[in-house]
Amino acid sequence: MNNPLLKVENLKVDFKLEDGKLFHALKSISFEVPENTTVALVGESGSGKSVTSMALLGLLPKSNTIIDPDSKIEFNGNNILKLSKTALRRLRGSDIAMIFQEPMSSLNPVFTIGNQIIETLMLHKSLSRKAARARTIELLNEVGLPDPENRINAYPHELSGGQQQRVMIAMAVACEPKLLIADEPTTALDVTIQKQILELLAQMQKRHGMSVLFITHDLGVVAEFADEVVVMRHGSICEQGSIETIFSDPQHSYTKALLNCRP
Ligand code: ADP
Ligand code: MG
Repeated sequence: MNNPLLKVENLKVDFKLEDGKLFHALKSISFEVPENTTVALVGESGSGKSVTSMALLGLLPKSNTIIDPDSKIEFNGNNILKLSKTALRRLRGSDIAMIFQEPMSSLNPVFTIGNQIIETLMLHKSLSRKAARARTIELLNEVGLPDPENRINAYPHELSGGQQQRVMIAMAVACEPKLLIADEPTTALDVTIQKQILELLAQMQKRHGMSVLFITHDLGVVAEFADEVVVMRHGSICEQGSIETIFSDPQHSYTKALLNCRP
């Protein structure tokens, strides 16, 4: 197996609820994402997948989150849980990228898609505007956005959901991240578009030699492109292993149930 790029160890997250009670969202979970690998984090809605991704990005709300002090999230040798706000922000702009279910939650509606990628490249890659524009057209071409020379001037709402997600992928890989966290990136899309976006993600993973943590409630969609699977249930990991093992010889009754739900 490749070296771990990300190592989550005993991650335990509680939320303080309004009535003062604690909700145990993550009950000491441990898993790794090796270099140059796609790991699927799978589980039904409410199992703690997004809380995990937010913890990895240092984005859990400060007001009511309690992270156990023995928890560790090692990325490239640093414990993410110990980083300063500034260091975290830098990490999110460079080595770790993310895409979410709703591209419109990340795309700014008042700027053209081109400008959003250009600004990202100028800020994080120190490119001149001219070089950033040329690279943006290359990236939009790479993610299959039709007519990138013109579409660079489009506003997010002028694109379809699938095209917006392509733009998000272009923006995510623009800074050549080591890890891309994709939280249900295809859930809001039609089935045929879903498949195209999954294929694009798989292509980008290989071409850019990054790792992908692909989060989904649908075990079926990961079969063709994930290398490893982590199955989550009620804030715990009930099973993890290679894609072959999980699909051919699942051990946990919950994994078997997820597999039986496949169309
Ligand atoms: P999913 O696996 O669907 O992504 P989430 O990780 O979003 O699930 O949520 C896991 C559980 O944690 C849910 O019950 C959710 O209501 C709860 N939760 C998430 N964020 C908070 C929060 N900030 N405060 C309280 N509960 C939360
Ligand atoms: Mg979620």
